[in-house]
Amino acid sequence: MEITDFVKISEHTSMVIGERPHGNVGGIALENFTIAIDSRGNLSGGRIFRKKLEEYYNLPIKYVILTHYHHDHINGRQAFKDVDIIVSDYTPTNKGRFQNALFIKDEHLIQDGDYEVKIFHTGGHTVGSMFVHFPAEKIIFAGDLIFENFFPPFGGDPTCNPELWFHALEKIKTLNPIRIVPGHGPFLTGDKITNHISNLQKIRGSTKKAIKENLKPSEIEISDYYGEYHQRWMSRTLPHWFSFYSTIDKIPGILEEIRSNTQDQNRVFLIKMTINELKVLANHLRIKISGNKNKIVDKILDHIVKHDS
Ligand SMILES: [Zn+2]
Repeated sequence: MEITDFVKISEHTSMVIGERPHGNVGGIALENFTIAIDSRGNLSGGRIFRKKLEEYYNLPIKYVILTHYHHDHINGRQAFKDVDIIVSDYTPTNKGRFQNALFIKDEHLIQDGDYEVKIFHTGGHTVGSMFVHFPAEKIIFAGDLIFENFFPPFGGDPTCNPELWFHALEKIKTLNPIRIVPGHGPFLTGDKITNHISNLQKIRGSTKKAIKENLKPSEIEISDYYGEYHQRWMSRTLPHWFSFYSTIDKIPGILEEIRSNTQDQNRVFLIKMTINELKVLANHLRIKISGNKNKIVDKILDHIVKHDS
């Protein structure tokens, strides 16, 4: 891996396009320091990125913002051990993995002189997905909320919430960016956000249609929305969207049932649900899950007990 070129996005911002195992990374130069966005996918990649970013702007790096917990974005973070790392409080992995970390919820503001950088916590691609806004130059670093030139955007993460993903893209749109740095692929002009929203809307439409017609996830109709057809990602994304939209409308009813049941009744009730429904429910309740069906049910029951007391 060699970083050959930083791509200049604007006067104060830049990116490096990631090739496997790396996602894209970015830099924002403020008055006294630089902010790095994501850290590449391994330690050597992180080290090279750090060195080059410090040289590029001739400023020290004060923060690294990790847009979400996927390895291709965070595994270079050890190269930034002496730097404050900003991570979502909803990160669904062991938080002990992150040293010098500042865990944030909702919005977070960084200021330096006349400049500010805003971090928006949205979820969507993952439960802890965040994007970064540099208002002075109307630049957005979207992390994996946007994959440019890839179809479909990877939504197979168990914590992916397509509806929050829509909210995130709509939020980006309202900020009226001039340029957007995606998590993968080249940067795009701000107006292209509408294409990304409409492509996701098409996937949602096809998914809901397939559910209504009692089809399987593999039978979801997709045309070449993005021009490029990516079988591997499609086969991960569509089953997740399918179970999400099969379950999400039932959640208010499920929660009502749970509230009126005893603990024993709830165990019986939850065991009857499918594993995918349980995952969507756990995700909705922001419960970290792992293991088999019984373990997931236990975690949900634990959560209900704690929530009621
Ligand atoms: Zn990702």
